[in-house]
Amino acid sequence: MKNVKQYEFWFITGSQHLYGEEVIKTVEDHSKAMVEGLANDPLLPAKIIFKSVVTTPDEITRVCEEANYDENCAGIITWCHTFSPSKMWISGLTKLSKPWLHLHTQFNRTIPVQEIDMDFMNLNQSAHGDREHGFIGARLRKARKIVVGYWEDIAVREKIGSWMRSAIGVAVSRSLKVVRYGDNMRYVAVTEGDKVEAEIKLGWQVNTRAVGDLVGLINQVTEVEIDTLMAEYEQKYDIATDQIEQVRYQAKVQLGIQKSLELGDFGAFTTTFEDLHGLNQLPGLACQDLMAKGYGFGGEGDWKVAAMTHIMKAMAQGINKGTSFMEDYTYDLTLGNELILGAHMLEVCPTVAQNRPRIEVHPLGIGAKSDPARLVFDGKAGKAIVASLVDMGGRLRLIVNDIECVKPFDMPNLPVAGVMWRPEPNLQTSAEAWILAGGAHHSVLSFDLTADHMRDFAEMMDIEFVHINKDTDINELKRDLFLADLAWKLK
Ligand code: MN
Repeated sequence: MKNVKQYEFWFITGSQHLYGEEVIKTVEDHSKAMVEGLANDPLLPAKIIFKSVVTTPDEITRVCEEANYDENCAGIITWCHTFSPSKMWISGLTKLSKPWLHLHTQFNRTIPVQEIDMDFMNLNQSAHGDREHGFIGARLRKARKIVVGYWEDIAVREKIGSWMRSAIGVAVSRSLKVVRYGDNMRYVAVTEGDKVEAEIKLGWQVNTRAVGDLVGLINQVTEVEIDTLMAEYEQKYDIATDQIEQVRYQAKVQLGIQKSLELGDFGAFTTTFEDLHGLNQLPGLACQDLMAKGYGFGGEGDWKVAAMTHIMKAMAQGINKGTSFMEDYTYDLTLGNELILGAHMLEVCPTVAQNRPRIEVHPLGIGAKSDPARLVFDGKAGKAIVASLVDMGGRLRLIVNDIECVKPFDMPNLPVAGVMWRPEPNLQTSAEAWILAGGAHHSVLSFDLTADHMRDFAEMMDIEFVHINKDTDINELKRDLFLADLAWKLK
């Protein structure tokens, strides 16, 4: 996974020649001062670089084209200190394929009541210059984030930082390669989808590798390599089993999968218990430890959730609260305290663990293979989201539910990792809304990201976004889904 600090955002200031060279120089100095202030703020996860003051259509087109071609540039931020006539921006913005944030701010916080004169007015024109700039975004129907407020304010910087994470998600998504070891679980609907549509909209290359070829790589793993990974396990996890050979087998599988992922430059992968030909165990610990290293994973061939797990982990870099593949497993329907227990057959990412995970070996009722080693732990408490991407036929829909994770019950006989949560606004409305919208049983659970990150991502990717939250009302949601169905057919 590319380090978040490698991504750059280009700050471009719009102006024109009308004001003379001296004013343009001042505009540049002020822009540089603002960018320097923003660059030193840890609220911004990636680099922000002052690019230029642009004053002609050709300059604007050139910088937009450069942004498109530069693989480290994850987006542009524009601002108009002075007036920048927007017809100059049509060519550049039409060509721009990177995310765009329009920062509506001004260099001075306050009006200098004693000093203000017409020179000051001609320099500090964002209030109307940025409206001219905003019109062309609207006229072009161009997706963009608008952030309003003084550039030194924390709220403004938080919004810029949040958008940067979404834009990094776009960059990761557009270059993501996903590998499927085996097909989707037989007869399952929601894990299916149009891979061509996904590549057109989201950039994902979703391909397959034969499980037999993967087993070939696994069989080439040496005992010395297994010893090294076992030592790493011992540092991070408690080995709470005597069946060391079963654990060593997962290490071997993990190293084989990792080799295959590296060979194909894959960022996400799926397995399926229905195709384990030549494998002795369902990969459990192997998938969990690979997820902790940033790979996306989806069970039962669910390539959409695998891709989203990787993208959301990339967006969340540096926050480090935890993001995992998840499944709504079972409910506690105690009246007034309804909860969801999320888990999977094996594969929950240890980044969401509240305690040190234990490596255990237990039988698995499904798959008819040897008892797999897995990490067992309790999930953290705290605010989080669950996100699910579904294919509605003709369009993709991203559904996000705000949730409050709680300390899981003490469940001594549960041999898998579990996370427990109360969905907003409550289980009844949340589950009704989720089911109405067609949300999957698989999701990505993230303590790092918020619905705002995912909404911005969906807007940039031009896919539908549904947010289930504390204000969700079922009848309003039904109307929204009905109208969205019509709107997306017309788009
Ligand atoms: Mn599943």
